[in-house]
Amino acid sequence: MDVRIGTTLDGQAARFDISNPRTLLLVGDVGRGKTTTARYLTRWWLANTARHAHVYAQTPSEWADLLCSVERPDQLHRQVERACRPRTCLVVIDDMDLVDDEQLALLPLGTGTTILTSHGGNNFTGQTLLGADLSCVGLVRPNHSDASEAAVLDGQGRLDWPIDTVAVIADQRGPVDFPCHRWQAPGCASMAAAL
Ligand SMILES: [Zn+2]
Repeated sequence: MDVRIGTTLDGQAARFDISNPRTLLLVGDVGRGKTTTARYLTRWWLANTARHAHVYAQTPSEWADLLCSVERPDQLHRQVERACRPRTCLVVIDDMDLVDDEQLALLPLGTGTTILTSHGGNNFTGQTLLGADLSCVGLVRPNHSDASEAAVLDGQGRLDWPIDTVAVIADQRGPVDFPCHRWQAPGCASMAAAL
């Protein structure tokens, strides 16, 4: 099912089909809504309680309010999803810049839905993602843009984004979609550990 995440520069709704085994790569500068968009899609996924998610995040506390397993990216050591029922599993890597190519190879690329967020787009050096069925979305804000974002808004690409990146202005989200603060999730660390 398509989930709306924002608006393209020509005014169309930007959507991601989260039911298909696809990979969504979110790139963009700090504060453009990469983690917020990933959290929104993850919340949408988890609304069906027959499904679950594995999240790897540099700041696990930002995800601690969601009922899913949360670990740091450096804890990604084994094949994700191998023991999971097909189509029930979502894998999220928040801050994939911290994940090397060997670890990316552990992701269910092409067989499960995967969401990756990256500070820069071209920080992954290996070939792992090149053959993947990848949707790359570059998040921009419409106002107060810096020079490189202004170029994107003018219809030019960015050198630090993959070719074919679609520029999107993320939808405004409610507070529950913003990264969780430590004080908002009492006891959630133990909940995540129990999963
Ligand atoms: Zn799973």
